[in-house]
Amino acid sequence: MNAPKPPYPTDHMSSMDNLPIGNSFAALPPAHYTALMPTPLPNPYLVCASASTAALIGLDFSEVDTEAFIETFTGNRILDNSKPLSAVYSGHQFGVWAGQLGDGRAILLGDVPAPNVYPSGRLELQLKGAGLTPYSRMGDGRAVLRSSIREFLCSEAMAALGIPTTRALCVTGSDQIVMREQRETAAVATRVAQSFVRFGSFEHWFYNEKHDELKTLADYVIDNFYPEFRSSDNPYKALLTEVTLRTAQMIAHWQAVGFMHGVMNTDNMSILGLTLDYGPFGFMEAFNATHICNHTDQQGRYSYARQPQIGEWNCYALGQALLPLIGDVDETQAALRIYKPAFAEKFEELMRAKLGLKTKQSDDRKLFDGLFGILQESHVDFTTFFRQLGNVQIADSETQEPLRDLFIDRAAYDAWALQYGARLQQENSIDSERKLAMDAVNPKYILRNYLAQVAIEKAQNKDFSEVQKLLQVLEKPFDEQPENEKYAALPPDWANDLEVSCSS
Ligand code: AMP
Ligand code: MG
Repeated sequence: MNAPKPPYPTDHMSSMDNLPIGNSFAALPPAHYTALMPTPLPNPYLVCASASTAALIGLDFSEVDTEAFIETFTGNRILDNSKPLSAVYSGHQFGVWAGQLGDGRAILLGDVPAPNVYPSGRLELQLKGAGLTPYSRMGDGRAVLRSSIREFLCSEAMAALGIPTTRALCVTGSDQIVMREQRETAAVATRVAQSFVRFGSFEHWFYNEKHDELKTLADYVIDNFYPEFRSSDNPYKALLTEVTLRTAQMIAHWQAVGFMHGVMNTDNMSILGLTLDYGPFGFMEAFNATHICNHTDQQGRYSYARQPQIGEWNCYALGQALLPLIGDVDETQAALRIYKPAFAEKFEELMRAKLGLKTKQSDDRKLFDGLFGILQESHVDFTTFFRQLGNVQIADSETQEPLRDLFIDRAAYDAWALQYGARLQQENSIDSERKLAMDAVNPKYILRNYLAQVAIEKAQNKDFSEVQKLLQVLEKPFDEQPENEKYAALPPDWANDLEVSCSS
């Protein structure tokens, strides 16, 4: 595996022997976490690793196959100066207050220098699946290989799509058995982010009526990740405003690429506006706005169409928790009011780009809604449609044929295409330019469930090559990759039976 060139001088390159680990989160009062050690796993092996995430922290990628790397990122070996801990938080799950949760199977190792990361210049390393914690509740503190690979691939795929997300450094596996619906084996995913603080971290102190701890946490987040708000009249209102904005924009990105998170509980919402906690997620294939990717979500609370409003609901939950610090209901509501316009603005901007439109017009919304209507009616593959649309040439109706073929109701497509064509002509759109611009925003390769499934089944038989191959394809989602054309194929029939649930 060849590492990409790091974005800073290589004399900053760290090796496993001198990874300079600190732990800014551990400086918080002890009530915020429990210091503990990971529980080792027998005979761990490397399943996959991301060179670009290694580069973010200046880690020499040639070391990923070493014993030191594998043992460290399984939790069997502790880096000097690391103060491993699990954080406490609470949250609303499926709209209901769930009380205390916490890192039930996540252990923060600490933070390492990441010179290009703004503003902290550091990234935290967290093991997921490294054993029991005081917050494990009924769980076993472990993660299975299947879900660890899914989290790894999707984190890296989302980053490559330009969507704010936590990253993944690697997955290691062990033959230790873990019981789920069936016997599976244990794995550890190493996640990387500036912070894993969640909306639920704030709700925890609010609902426990510990307003001094609430303030301590908010000050920690502001000082480390939003330092510019320190000088604001009301730093906590500034924090809520920014988190609301980032959340709205993140979800606009999800909608535009067809990503469904699956479990948008407030304990899975990042205070940095990152996509966090990949569980039963999915990417939209045959378009259906009411699609529910999580088999456990019977009510469809987190369906594709509801994600934007749930994002807002979650921001209100955060607003409630921050109210004692902001000090005023009107000020809190003012911060939250930006959600809807921020979402609409970002989503429309992304949709214009997806359609290759250069100008903003009053009836854009109508054009988008009309499109979603016909995609829904014919259950057209979301990714294929937008990628194909870039091939349309205004004066050549032949170029419409492959698109028409995607629709059961061709007349409906023709009617929409007429409006779209008129719109392109009106802004003097140039075919070749538009195609280049559209290909740069409409991915050809996404993490389809069946692709993940194929890679997982091979990995379960100790062949990890397909995971690494899929990562390589998904790292360049916008590129034509003629040799990897099959990774853009529609799901095979057997994929209809794939179900993903909260079991992981
Ligand atoms: P999730 O639905 O994965 O976001 O998890 C909700 C809560 O349950 C979090 O506090 C997790 O840390 C915890 N949890 C989930 N699975 C396990 C497990 N296998 N062992 C311990 N805790 C878990
Ligand atoms: Mg979670």
